[in-house]
Amino acid sequence: MPVDLTAPPPPEYFEPVPCYFCGSTNREHFETAQEDLTGKPGDFTFVSCRDCGLVYQHPRLTIDHIKDYYDDEYVAHRKNQSWGVLAPFFEWLMTKLDRDKDAIVSDAFPLNENTHVLDVGCGAGGFLAHIQKHYGCPCTGVDFKDLSQVIAELHPEQSIDFKCGTLAEVDLEPGSFDLVTMWHFLEHDYDPLNTLQVARRLLKPGGQMVIEVPRLDSVSHTLYRDRWPGWQAPQHTVALDKEQFIRMMDLAGLEVVDYLPYGAYPGYFYMYAGLAFKRHKGKGLDLSKSIKTYLLGQILTAPVMLFEKRLNLSMQTIVCRARETN
Ligand SMILES: [Zn+2]
Repeated sequence: MPVDLTAPPPPEYFEPVPCYFCGSTNREHFETAQEDLTGKPGDFTFVSCRDCGLVYQHPRLTIDHIKDYYDDEYVAHRKNQSWGVLAPFFEWLMTKLDRDKDAIVSDAFPLNENTHVLDVGCGAGGFLAHIQKHYGCPCTGVDFKDLSQVIAELHPEQSIDFKCGTLAEVDLEPGSFDLVTMWHFLEHDYDPLNTLQVARRLLKPGGQMVIEVPRLDSVSHTLYRDRWPGWQAPQHTVALDKEQFIRMMDLAGLEVVDYLPYGAYPGYFYMYAGLAFKRHKGKGLDLSKSIKTYLLGQILTAPVMLFEKRLNLSMQTIVCRARETN
């Protein structure tokens, strides 16, 4: 039965969860967050592990009950046709995001027609379509929502192998990918360490992974605290600072090749959204209405954003590879 999203989720929809990293149930309250983006009611609690310091959502909605929060409004899954007159702007924004992902990946790994790429949490497939178009990479996308139709409609020229399910569920050949990407996926995962371990086994020898997540110890969190867009409650399961993000790779048997204090996702979005969330206090944003202020702010802050890579506004990215076992 679908969740009634007009009322706070009742206690029986939640389940307790031990620390994702050390398994401890010894924890303390860290922050209470709300669903600030669309304003669905409910309070969601993030705790910090007393044994290892990881910040994670506890209790969390069960898998069956979280699915309804990934509705059609969810931007990664949204077809640009539904944006009406704003479709060209959305198109520009999304292709800019794909170009910025391309820049991060290309810095780390040379892409060509022999580079087998897997994007985990691929959404509507924009990134994969972009790199296939420009470099001819064979591409596979995994998402827990069945987006095969959306991908086929949005990118009719490209051929993307789509698999529906979690990474642990879908059938993929171990050792078959040169590059695995996770753009704002890992912080949604219900078993993130296991997902990383599965991804590690899918890498060819010499293969690399590029993983972007929000950064807890960032300027936007310091400014907005309980209204920090990086909580994205109830969808986000963990909130990682730099230290825990690096530690996570180690726990999953991965070796960090590079750490970037920024991502492809614009740091400005969190700066803007946090300010709007503070004003609306959990009532939600109407993105199509606030688009003018968003653009105006983007223009006014453009000179500062030139230095975004040094400002630690809101995102972080790790490039890593399988750690060699002795
Ligand atoms: Zn822990």
